[in-house]
Amino acid sequence: MLEYNDLILAFQELKLNDKAVIAHASLRAFGQVAGGADSMVTALMYTMGAVIMPTHTYKTMVTPASGPANNAVNYSRAQQWNRLAEPFDPNMPADVMMGLIPEHLRQRPQAKRSMHPILSFAGVNAAKTLQTQTLENPFAPLMEVANADGWVALLGVDHTVNTAIHLAEKLAKRKQFTRWALTESGTVTCPGFPGCSAGFEALEPTLRPHTITIQTGSATIRAMPIRMVIVKTLDAIKKDPLALLCDRADCERCAAVREGLKG
Ligand SMILES: [Zn+2]
Repeated sequence: MLEYNDLILAFQELKLNDKAVIAHASLRAFGQVAGGADSMVTALMYTMGAVIMPTHTYKTMVTPASGPANNAVNYSRAQQWNRLAEPFDPNMPADVMMGLIPEHLRQRPQAKRSMHPILSFAGVNAAKTLQTQTLENPFAPLMEVANADGWVALLGVDHTVNTAIHLAEKLAKRKQFTRWALTESGTVTCPGFPGCSAGFEALEPTLRPHTITIQTGSATIRAMPIRMVIVKTLDAIKKDPLALLCDRADCERCAAVREGLKG
């Protein structure tokens, strides 16, 4: 069983107390934690200058009957899911795929949340950073974190959830997608939607020299400057335009990136 103090001691080793940090975390990876997700959130807030986590809400997504080609959407097949969509509201919980910790961060009275109907972030001490997000530029807050010499923390998770790599893909001019979301004022178009992240762990060896790695209970914690994530992603895509794509035969978004490069 990990106690709150074990978390504090571990996170303090990362020396992020004056840094803005985009954190991704799996509570389960830590095994038993006294106080659960709330303990984890308090420890993150106590040891980091600012904490931002993704609170994405995929259940707002809807698909029109037709749209851009090579967009990794089967427009006719997707129609059946539209009736399940719910309009975004700022109090909508983060998708269960995000894990428990971002949702607990979002519920803190000190936390603010950005307003993207699919790709919102919640954060503490990060109000101005979160305000930079727009429909067209969903990862603008991560660029702000990079400009402020911020860091990425992967707490019991790997680079396949490292959102900063999506920002770098966009900076590398990799194909982005268009998605749509239901809001209280109707359906809105959300350009700049990212590709698939299943192949992102391929970046780990080049990031390792810039990464602080510590073991806490059963979890591995990795932290690195977000700028290094951006630089190494840009390098990888420059060397090989297909870098970091996954090799699943049925991956529609990676197939669309490959198709786009043929032109
Ligand atoms: Zn893929």
